[in-house]
This record gives sequence, structure tokens and C-alpha cells, in this order.
Amino acid sequence: MIRLMALLPSGGGLRDEDWARRHRLLTTILAATIVLLTAFGVFADGLNGTWLTTVFLILPCVIAASRLPGRRLPSTFVALGFVMACGGFVAIAHGLTEAHFSFFIVIAALALYRDWTPFGMFLLGTTLHHGVFGVLVSNRTYDHDAAFAHPWTWALLHAVAVLLAAGFQLVQWKMTESEERRSQQNLDESQAQLSIAFDQTPVPMAMISPEGRLLRTNEAYRGWLDLPEELPAGFTVDDLPITPADATSPGMFDHILSADEPVATTREYRRLDNGRHIWVDVHATGLRDQRGRLRLIFVHCVDVTDNRRHQEELRRQVRQDSLTGLLSRSAFENDLSELLATEPDQVSVIYVDVDRFKSINDGAGHTAGDDVLRALSARLAATVPDGSLVARLGGDEFVVALPGGIETALRTGHGLLDACAEPLLVDGGYLQISISVGVASASGGPAEAVVLAADTAMYAAKRAGGNRVAEFNDTMRVAVQDRIAAEARLRRALAGDRDTALPVWFQPIVGADGELAGAETLVRMRTPEGDIVGPNLFVPAAEETGLIVPLGEHVLNRAVRHLIEWGDQLGYVSVNVSPRQLAEPDFVPDVAALLASHPGLDPSRLILEITETALLGSSLDVQQRLEMLKAIGVRIALDDFGTGYSSLTWLQSIPADIVKLDRSFVAGLSADPRKSSIIEAVLWLARSLNMAVVAEGVEDEADWEALRALGCPSAQGYYFSRPLPPAEFEQKVLQRSRMATTP
Ligand code: C2E
Ligand code: MG
Ligand code: MG
Repeated sequence: MIRLMALLPSGGGLRDEDWARRHRLLTTILAATIVLLTAFGVFADGLNGTWLTTVFLILPCVIAASRLPGRRLPSTFVALGFVMACGGFVAIAHGLTEAHFSFFIVIAALALYRDWTPFGMFLLGTTLHHGVFGVLVSNRTYDHDAAFAHPWTWALLHAVAVLLAAGFQLVQWKMTESEERRSQQNLDESQAQLSIAFDQTPVPMAMISPEGRLLRTNEAYRGWLDLPEELPAGFTVDDLPITPADATSPGMFDHILSADEPVATTREYRRLDNGRHIWVDVHATGLRDQRGRLRLIFVHCVDVTDNRRHQEELRRQVRQDSLTGLLSRSAFENDLSELLATEPDQVSVIYVDVDRFKSINDGAGHTAGDDVLRALSARLAATVPDGSLVARLGGDEFVVALPGGIETALRTGHGLLDACAEPLLVDGGYLQISISVGVASASGGPAEAVVLAADTAMYAAKRAGGNRVAEFNDTMRVAVQDRIAAEARLRRALAGDRDTALPVWFQPIVGADGELAGAETLVRMRTPEGDIVGPNLFVPAAEETGLIVPLGEHVLNRAVRHLIEWGDQLGYVSVNVSPRQLAEPDFVPDVAALLASHPGLDPSRLILEITETALLGSSLDVQQRLEMLKAIGVRIALDDFGTGYSSLTWLQSIPADIVKLDRSFVAGLSADPRKSSIIEAVLWLARSLNMAVVAEGVEDEADWEALRALGCPSAQGYYFSRPLPPAEFEQKVLQRSRMATTP
């Protein structure tokens, strides 16, 4: 029994407003039956007693249904009213079987209540009507003899038929109920998920109505803003204990309201409880209904004040030189650019470099060096006028910038010089230092240009002995401009067709009897106007800017290509290598790779010329690199020997294969006996060290003869040939293997 009950729907479950709507509908239909029955009565027998009884019974049901409170009674009266209506209809139709259809229609209609009472009441009413009326007025209840004979049997038969029709309504209730239960479960589940995602996250969140009322907040939100668990009714965003720090900016809330998309902003707020400023990441999403009306705003707020502070600290650290606390290079360049852009008059820049700082550092150690830099930076900062930018650019270089023309710059520069005349207190002792100061001024223009000008002036002060102030002047300007122009030209040349813009020329080197031995590779630059420019005009700029690295690579490649092309006709090529190139960590591997890509080439046919100066200040590293180059079979020549400070004995410590005697020893040799004794000594030493010698700059026959007389094994110079472009070199030199007639 209980099992059976469980199979049946429980009924009910409609929401009040839904029930009321259905009840209204059914009551209205019931009332309408009076009209229908009247119409039918007129059409059938006329408005007789049957009709009147029916109407008389329906009417109070309609009134009771629309007046009585609650659900059960009104719906029961509707059911009763319908029993009357159907019974009346059957009676007016003289028991016509088709009139009984109305019971089936009504049982379906009453199912709308989803309630057992009206439903059951109607079934009961139907059975009773059929039975009682079947007995009392059979011919107004049924229209066939079998029913007349057994009215109750037919009453039950009809009741069962109506019940069966009702059965499907019950099945439908039952299904609807389980579907509703399922969707309720789903709803509960999503509610639970929302509750976890909303209430239990550490991210402060709130749901706000479009009018700004706080509909729901999570614990994190309330904790963050110190709000009570139950907010007072009508609490809006304006009552929150934070207010935008920038009162002029449009309200955040308006912004959210007007946006179609989710809004994500970081804003500064002021807390009203303690006046503190906080930074908040606000992420707001509007929830809209199907018609696009904003129903709800969902906001996440993350207090990012600590993050901000951390970032600002980092930014400050980047702006600061960590050793001295002065501005860093990048911060200085930035601030100076701003100053130049905003200052209507001139801006002066003072460049400061400590004289002989290296010896302080090397002598007293790095810690002492750092102490000196710190003490000096404090003194500089204390000496310059308030509001000046003071920075350390790195090493022992400082720079100051302030508004004012060159007089200001000079005054400030001399002030710094005087301030440094007082010894610095370093680590309990006094230390006397001096500085070189360069000053320059500019109105507008790029920051780098003024700094470069002051730097150039500082170098002039240093060259003049240090401990002085030098002002940037027009001569320096020309030099700087030339350098800048040279750099720009070089960049263009390297970026374009290198063979056209940077052709590589060759100058022959001959043996003692004038036969061709090899050639030196000398780079040229072709200007856009087509003029050929010598390396003295661009190699120094290339070295300064580091462009010598790609330039050198280009020359080396071309030299090797021609060496291979010319085969046996040429013994070797020599290529000049600048100190900067040699210092490049990739230089040796690159040379090795170049040689490896030409396996047929004997590496000793490649000579690298290194100047004495490159080796003079050189570290162990350079020596090592030379050894590595020798290990892969390349030969090393010491270029311009004699122009440096080197002593003859120094030569033995250099891993060179060839010494190239500088042309200053060679020019006028025949007329100067002192030169010949120097050359003799070099030749003797080189021979004893197993090195070859090439005399450079042989311009006439007399010098060549004098060299030969001293036993110089080979030479290079205009007397034999000037440097030539490859095609001409091929024609004039290679095809004529003898360069000079031996006497
Ligand atoms: P260097 O290596 O001493 O080159 C010899 C210089 O002397 C060349 O000048 C050459 O033209 C010049 N010369 C040759 N014979 C005579 C002569 O009889 N009399 C006179 N007065 N001069 C003579 P150039 O080509 O102007 O090169 C100048 C310097 O530029 C070279 O001096 C070298 O140090 C550098 N250089 C040239 N090409 C390159 C290169 O590809 N890379 C690097 N790093 N430096 C290069
Ligand atoms: Mg050379
Ligand atoms: Mg030379």
C-alpha cells in the first residue's frame, strides 16, 4: 500500500501565484459554462427547469470559489461546480452519450490544480451523479437501455473511464514532480557552489544592485572593510568606509554601470576610518536579464597596496645607484630629458671623473674604493645647488645637471673642484683626491648630446693633467660631431652592401729580392658620393662604438676569400685585428670556424696583425688568445713595432711570428745612421727569437737598398705598390710576380 502511495504523485507544490492564476482560469471557465449551458438550453429544450436547476447549482459554486480563502475550499467548489455543469449538460442533452465527454474534459482541466482534493472530489461527484441520477432520472442520464437497467454499474463504468483518463494526468504530475525535484537539486547544487565560490574565498566580493545597494557580501569583503555581518537595510556603495582618492575622477560605480563589458581597474581609495590610502584592483561584471537590463553587479576587490608599495620600492631602487644612493644612469637620462624639454632656458651638465681612481682602487682595495665613491658622492650632493640632478654613471664617473647656462655650469664645476680640495674622510683616515670636470650647456636637444659634450670636455681636462675644469668648446664640438657622423656613416655602410661600401684593398709585401710574398688587407670606405676614405677616418670610431667587430669580420672573410681565389699566386694575406676585436670572447672561435669552413686552406697562410698598443695594456687573457690562435696554425704579426713604449727585450715575451717595423724607422733610413743601428738591433733580435721582419713604409729605392744591405728579409711600401682594389691587385701585382728590380 505504502509502495503504491509512493508511486502516486504527492500533489501540491505550486507556488501561490501560479496556483492563483490557474484557479482564476478554471473559475472563469466554470462561470462561462453558465453562458454556454444557457445557449445550449435555448437550442435544445428551451430554458426549462433542468436548465434553471443547473444554473442555480453552479452559481453558488462560482461565488464560493472566488470568495473563499485558502486553496482547498475554493478548488473543491470549482470541482463541485464542474460536476453540476457536466451533470446539467448531460441532463439538458437527455443523457446523450457524447455529452458525457464533458466529464473527461473537466478531469483534464482540474488536473491543473495538481491537488488531490478537487481531483478526488470531481471523481467522487461524477460517480455519485451517474449513480444517483441514473437511478432517479435514467433517461436524462443515459441514452441506452443497458444503462437504464443497471444505472450503478454504468455509473461505476463511467467513473472508471474518467479515472483512467485521470490516470494520465497523475502520471504527468508525477513526472513534473520528479523533474522539479531534479531541477531543485541542480539549483541547490549551484547555490552551494556559488556559496563556496563566493562566501568562502579569501577574495573580497560583493553583489550590488544597479542602484548601488549591497545585496550580498562575503566574509572577506566584510573583514577587509570592517563591515558588520548584517548590513543595515538600504546600505549602498556610498556608505562604504572607502572613497576614491581622486575625487575629481568619475565615480567607479557610474563607470561600471555604463560599461557593457566587465570592468577591470586599479584605483586609489582613501579609507575613511584611518585616512590611509589604499590601492584596489576592482573587477566588476554586470549580470543582465534577457532584455539586456542590468540586474546585478558582481565585484571582486583585491587590495594591492602592498604590491604597489613593493613595485614603487623596486622602481626607486632602479632609479638609484645602489652604492651611493645617487640617481642611476637611466634615471638621470630620463630626468635630464625631461628637464631639457621643460626648461625654457639653458640646462648645464657637469661631468666629473676621479683622477687616477684606478690606483686608489688597486692600491687600497675595492672596499676602500667604494668608500671613496660614497664619501665623494656625499660631498658632490652637498655642494651642488638644491634641486640639481646628481647621478653616478658607473665606475668613478659622476654627473650633475641643473638649470642655467654655461656660467652656472662653470661655477658649479669650480665649486665641486674646490670641495674636493678638502681631503675625504675615509675609513677613519684622510685621503686626498682630485677630480677632472667637464662642463657643457644646451637648450633643449637630446640628453645624450649634452652628456657627451660634458664628457668630452672632462677628457680634455684629464688630458691637461686633471684637477681642473674644462668647458666644452667648438673644437671639441667638431671632433664630437665628426665622431657621431663617422659612426652614422659606418652603421649605414655595415647595414648596406658591404662589398660596395666597405671594399677591401690589398698591398703587396715583397721578399728580399723583390718577389711577391704576400699582401696586407686594408679596408676602405666608399662614401655615398663615391669617394674612397682611408681607415684612419673611420676605424677609430668603429673601435669606440664596437662596430669594429662586424667590420673586422667582413674584412677577414674577404681576405680569406681572395686568398683562396688567388691560390698559389699569393703566399699569404695579413689582416689587421684591433684590440677590441681581440677582446671579443668569440674572436678565436670565429677564426677557427672560418678556417674550418675552408679545409683546403693552410692556416699559416693567414696572418693576424696586432698592434703593440693592443698588447701593452693587455691582460693575460690576450696572450692566451694569441697562443690559441697560434695553436690553430694562424700566424701573428706585431704591427707598427717601435711606435709604442716597448723595449726590445719585451719582444721575447710576445708570441709573434713576424715583426712589422713601423715606417717611422724606415723613412729616410738611408740618410740616418741612427735609424740603421736600431733596425740592425731589431733584425738581430728577431732572428734570434726566430721571428720574421717586414719593414713598412718603403717609399723609395734608396731606403729599400739600405734595408737590403742591413739584411731585412721583406718589405712593404709605396715603392712597390700602393694598396689596390682586388681587381687591380690581380692585374698589376699577381700577373707580375716581381715588384721591384733588384739591383
Ligand atoms: P697599418 O696596419 O700600419 O697599415 C699600413 C698603413 O700604411 C696603410 O695605411 C698603408 O696604406 C700605409 N702605407 C703603406 N705603404 C706606405 C708607404 O710607403 N708610405 C706611407 N706613408 N704609408 C704607407 P691605411 O690603409 O691608411 O691604414 C691605416 C691603418 O688603419 C692601418 O695601419 C691599420 O692599423 C688600420 N687598418 C686598416 N685596415 C684595417 C682593418 O681592416 N682592420 C683594422 N682593425 N684596422 C685596419
Ligand atoms: Mg697593419
Ligand atoms: Mg703598420
